[in-house]
Amino acid sequence: MTGEKIQKRKGIVHINHEYCKRCGICVNFCPVKNLEIQQQKLMELNRCIACKMCQRYCPDIAIEIEEVDEKTVGTGKSSHRNGG
Ligand code: SF4
Ligand code: SF4
Repeated sequence: MTGEKIQKRKGIVHINHEYCKRCGICVNFCPVKNLEIQQQKLMELNRCIACKMCQRYCPDIAIEIEEVDEKTVGTGKSSHRNGG
């Protein structure tokens, strides 16, 4: 039985819409264009690579990145971390 969802993204974006003033700084810094301001609201497009640029540059601490387990993501690319 394979009922698992394969996720491409590596990070989950948590946006605090109360703090976010929609300045667009994070939108400009995101290298994969995962962030977008739509109808006066910051949205994410589920392709976050967890670089945390948005979190670093947001002046209002309104955005936070949660890294997701690479096993769930399923990419076999450049991950040499293993605890033996
Ligand atoms: S940088 Fe921060 S305040 Fe500005 S749009 Fe992004 S999350 Fe909102
Ligand atoms: S962590 Fe990086 S990829 Fe993810 S939304 Fe922020 S800037 Fe974009």
